[in-house]
Amino acid sequence: MSLRLYNTLTLQVQPFAPDRDNTVRMYTCGPTVYDYAHIGNFRTFVFYDILRRWLQASGFGLNHVMNITDVDDKIIRNATAQGKSISDYSAIYTKAYFEDSALLRLQKPEHVTPATEHIPEMAAAIRKLGELGYTYEGEGSTYFRISKFPEYGKLSHINFSGNRAGARVDVDEYEKDDARDFVLWKAAKENEPYWDTVVGRGRPGWHIECSVMAIEYLGDTLDLHAGGVDLIFPHHENEIAQSESLTHHPFARFWVHSEFLLVDGQKMSKSLGNFHTLRDILDKGFSPESVRYLLASVPYRKALNFTFDGLKSAATAIDRMRNFALRLATEPFDEGQDAALDERAVQATAAFRESMDDDLNTAEALAATFEYVRDVNIAMDRGAFRTGNRERAQEVLNLFDSVFDVLSTGADSNSLADDKIDALIEERKQAKKSRNFSRADEIRALLADAGVILEDTKDGVRWKRK
Ligand code: AMP
Ligand code: ZN
Repeated sequence: MSLRLYNTLTLQVQPFAPDRDNTVRMYTCGPTVYDYAHIGNFRTFVFYDILRRWLQASGFGLNHVMNITDVDDKIIRNATAQGKSISDYSAIYTKAYFEDSALLRLQKPEHVTPATEHIPEMAAAIRKLGELGYTYEGEGSTYFRISKFPEYGKLSHINFSGNRAGARVDVDEYEKDDARDFVLWKAAKENEPYWDTVVGRGRPGWHIECSVMAIEYLGDTLDLHAGGVDLIFPHHENEIAQSESLTHHPFARFWVHSEFLLVDGQKMSKSLGNFHTLRDILDKGFSPESVRYLLASVPYRKALNFTFDGLKSAATAIDRMRNFALRLATEPFDEGQDAALDERAVQATAAFRESMDDDLNTAEALAATFEYVRDVNIAMDRGAFRTGNRERAQEVLNLFDSVFDVLSTGADSNSLADDKIDALIEERKQAKKSRNFSRADEIRALLADAGVILEDTKDGVRWKRK
């Protein structure tokens, strides 16, 4: 079986493949850079990363675009309070976002697109929507008229008919004809930053940035659009309304949404004050890998309750895997090959793949890996595991780490003691002598992961730490 994903649009788990040339055209809603992101935000960003990695493991190419919302009410408010320009202010948190992302080993999307670098394109799109009759103006601002888009609600599966005077659904402080209508362009207010454009002086609303940048980089129809569940309505519903009104093509084939990180049953959020930033957690002595592991360990469609005990368990789980990896690499097993153990590895790999293919069931994939590690540790203890079993065992680990990426220790390059390094170098020498070059290369890679660099000199091998 191949990859299946839950599509919010159809409310079904469906087989996923890109529409054209084996490349997934994918858009994810990125951070609003008004402050440090908290680990609730990072649950969503880790989910994007796991999705990326499994799409790659499925053999697809990626063209992934993620926006940076670097103009909005909170940014303007905070920048003004600090006497900074919005670009100086948002640069601080954009940088922090990428530092945290690197610590969490998030792959960078192929295109990261700051909203403020695409304002003329947004204004042009708003003008075109106006020409097509989808907008109206009031006091210099431009709104999208939802009643012109009968399919509104098809993503959130909310029936809006007869709901004109419903509750306020948007946070914008502007006059609207219909509560559901949303602002495309905000007229400049005093002391606020603005751009002079074909739709006047002002700044774009939030929703339009995603539609415009997605279409600009990826074309009219995306293969996949992702975000947190809180974005389904109104943000993604509005993106669909704008985009499909502009292009008359379906905006995205798959809509994939991740659930929240909770604290005591409530969404982790700035407004509730129940949040932790990555920096806070690292200051308490936890590793970024533990945070990554914890956030990735629960399937994305299940809410995940954050606790420090959970973080400790994540650290323990990583230790178990690292110990196993070290044992596999360094223990002097007897010669030969045990067919049943190779078979066990093949089965573990298949179970991992099947779990990930099943709507990215990371919990099952982890269970398959840990059951395998337990069985093989026992086999090693009783001497059944042989040198010939290393390769398949390493494949299980590599597959696990291609998704979870927690085995290498990053900055912690002192984890291998000097005598262990010497022993590995000696083993590498023997491996080369017996023309087992793949093992020799494996040892070099293992040492490199631990921050140890080898130099082959005429007097033998020298090593140093990075
Ligand atoms: P923002 O920076 O506020 O635009 O949010 C960035 C992303 O974080 C959005 O995709 C939200 O869906 C997501 N998000 C916010 N809070 C949480 C949470 N507690 N758990 C998971 N994702 C969240
Ligand atoms: Zn968006």
